[in-house]
Amino acid sequence: MLSDWWRRLVSGAPQPIAADAWQCAVDRLPWVAALDAPRSARLAHLAAVFLHRKTITPVGDLQLSDEDRIALAALCCLPLLEFGEEGLHGWSQLIVYPDAFRVNRTHVDAAGVMHEWEDELIGEAWDSGPLVLSWADVQADIAEPDAGFCVAVHEMVHKIDALDGVVDGTPPLPRAWQSAWARDFQSAYNGFVARVDAGADVEIDAYAAEAPEEFFAVCSEYHFSAPAVLRQALPTVAAHLERLYGRSPFA
Ligand SMILES: [Zn+2]
Repeated sequence: MLSDWWRRLVSGAPQPIAADAWQCAVDRLPWVAALDAPRSARLAHLAAVFLHRKTITPVGDLQLSDEDRIALAALCCLPLLEFGEEGLHGWSQLIVYPDAFRVNRTHVDAAGVMHEWEDELIGEAWDSGPLVLSWADVQADIAEPDAGFCVAVHEMVHKIDALDGVVDGTPPLPRAWQSAWARDFQSAYNGFVARVDAGADVEIDAYAAEAPEEFFAVCSEYHFSAPAVLRQALPTVAAHLERLYGRSPFA
């Protein structure tokens, strides 16, 4: 009995990532290389929990080595450095396509007419379903780490946003912070959308104007990869994100 219990306990605990394997991930990922030692160690633990709880499934011809999987887990856990492993709740699979992938969309409009179209995506986060990434686009982010893009962070932010049951650009936070967040993000989002609609030259990827949840996800990419641009363009948003994620590795 005791040995069964013990075995279950042991198999239920994440396997720590070996120091040399972690160093390999650090060397590959500029955002991780820029973390100080305590935060790098915390990320290594989060990545180990990620690998323990999530299945990583490559699609088609794509093959992922152990080092690739550790790097993916580390990237996905970057937004959880302060939030913690509770941010991994509610889903179990990371699907990795070799490149951008096509999905069929349908929508029934108010008049009852069905619209169908195809989208080409580099990442997707299903409600309580898998997180999907394009490996080629993850590599492109790594090759240009300060360009304001990080698709793995973007999709993970949708997962964090969804933790309170609604994907609306507001993650679960202590009540007072959440109301300040909702107020500040709404006002920043409205201002951003107005500028995009007016054809202004915006500093942040205009995709952020699609919806409040995309605004949250896109601004989070800038927090990690181009924090100075975000602080300049949207200082109140930058301050909330710094509180949620901690200091940007590139600050
Ligand atoms: Zn998105």
